Amino acid sequence: MTKIEMKTPLVEMDGDEMTRILWGWIKDKLILPYVDLKTEYYDLGLKHRDETDDRVTAEAAEATRRLGVAVKCATITPNAQRVEEYHLKKMWKSPNGTIRALLDGTVFRAPVLAEGIVPYIPAWKKPIVIARHAYGDLYKAADARAGAGKAELVFTDPDGKEVRRTIFDFTGDGVVMGMYNTDESIEQFARACFRYALSVRLPLWFSAKDTISKAYDHRFKDIFSELYEAEYRAAFERAGIYYLYTLIDDAVARAIRSEGGFVWACKNYDGDVMSDMVATAYGSLAMMTSVLVSPDGVYEYEAAHGTVTRHYYKHRKGEETSTNSVATIFAWTGALAKRGELDEIPELTAFAKKLEKATVKTIEEGKMTGDLVPLFKAEGIAPQKLNSREFLEAIAEKL
Ligand code: NAP
Ligand code: MG
Repeated sequence: MTKIEMKTPLVEMDGDEMTRILWGWIKDKLILPYVDLKTEYYDLGLKHRDETDDRVTAEAAEATRRLGVAVKCATITPNAQRVEEYHLKKMWKSPNGTIRALLDGTVFRAPVLAEGIVPYIPAWKKPIVIARHAYGDLYKAADARAGAGKAELVFTDPDGKEVRRTIFDFTGDGVVMGMYNTDESIEQFARACFRYALSVRLPLWFSAKDTISKAYDHRFKDIFSELYEAEYRAAFERAGIYYLYTLIDDAVARAIRSEGGFVWACKNYDGDVMSDMVATAYGSLAMMTSVLVSPDGVYEYEAAHGTVTRHYYKHRKGEETSTNSVATIFAWTGALAKRGELDEIPELTAFAKKLEKATVKTIEEGKMTGDLVPLFKAEGIAPQKLNSREFLEAIAEKL
């Protein structure tokens, strides 16, 4: 069989522990037999990050900016225990944080659905993708305890002119907070959401509370709506999708009643809450994909879970593990499909879709890792628990 040729290499960021083991197996069993894989390889394993004083992480982000599409394995974010375990020079920062800061993006999280794995909200038949604005608001706020006295909002312009507004005249103890966002960041967030919705051909909802927050949330609503009208409406209509703004409480009610099948853009705090709700409702973090989309259209695909340390320690002792590789497989297929789309290699995109189908079908036929067994319910099919390697072999067979 001739292998599918690639044009531009993917940026490949290898990682740590159990996911690093799965990474190698996924490539060997599911990708290399079919694709003449081209990657620019960066080893983000903790040992190599330490050896390079974490320069490798910045280099990988730089390469992503240059080449446009990356696939990343889960990595350890070191804490004190890891510093000891790996004899680190210092407690390096989270690679995801470093990469996000350099690429300046929005994170989209989407569940992988398989028949038999029933969401806790059974009406949800299609994915709900949460797009979380990861800048400002509550996470960069200044807050304080207050006592009797006057709390004011003071804005000083560069000429020293002040504008004051009373927040509250306290007669006793209380709390007070000031938070901000920037038009630039809101606009980049909106742009990433419009682009993403177009790339997956799903309608886009944006929710906030502009009826109460008449300047703050209203600014978000206006920026989304102005950008939509000026730059995206025509493309949305051509793609047969729509953009909807609605109040956050109405969005929650609509989401619960819906059958899924939309992208839900959330302000920072709303996105924090909603992504955990949605991930839990769909069943498992190991069935959740994650992609960082930068405002200039750079994509970085990864799994939403961590390095599955407990399983890795078992693996290292030679014991059998049953670690779910679905989210990591989908990180690869997401990146390969995007590369195929950008380089106009339809066979590559078609292969990625085929691998996704084979993965889902394997589960639907009752072959799965241990984490999914208690969630699986299908008439006449008894779920079979496979070990990490057997699960990948079952997918390869299906493929
Ligand atoms: P984790 O690796 O996601 O694992 C937590 C638990 O969730 C596991 O022990 C396992 O439960 C279950 N689980 C997660 N993924 C699974 C999979 N693919 N298949 C089966 N079960 C799965 O989170 P953590 O233990 O909090 O973190 C471990 C390391 O990952 C840390 O060093 C952290 O810094 C790093 N991390 C990295 C990323 C990233 O790179 N994006 C994200 C989060 C965490 P059972 O043990 O009950 O089987
Ligand atoms: Mg959270």
